[in-house]
Amino acid sequence: MDLIERLHASANTNPYEFPDPIPALGLVILTCMDARIDPHQLLGIGLGDAHILRNAGGMVTDDVVEGIAISQRMTGTERVMVIHHTNCLAHADRAPGYSPFQTAEWVVQQLRNDPRLPHRDHIRGFVLDTGNEGGKDVLSGI
Ligand SMILES: [Zn+2]
Repeated sequence: MDLIERLHASANTNPYEFPDPIPALGLVILTCMDARIDPHQLLGIGLGDAHILRNAGGMVTDDVVEGIAISQRMTGTERVMVIHHTNCLAHADRAPGYSPFQTAEWVVQQLRNDPRLPHRDHIRGFVLDTGNEGGKDVLSGI
């Protein structure tokens, strides 16, 4: 059985309960597709608590803005957390030389200035330290 067949079989054998489609925390999270990042585990939230948008680098695209706008219009979310991270391969490819603090700030400013979003007062940026450096906060606000 190849990987995808195994995952398909797993989906049909494991119990799965769907929570309410309205995010319980009124929150949207925009972050990177990096396989090391699990927003639920990181933030201590559960399934159904937030809409989570992911792409290479957690950057702003028309699809991201449209997704946040739909979330805000259709489910009433008002808060956005942008989470970038250290050692991001997408940023190394697309924005070499810039820190994740800079890229997160760009994204926050782009979203705050985008008139397609009905709610722009609670958009915050963060950087996740994926380097596991002891003694430092794992997640820092920008
Ligand atoms: Zn990344």
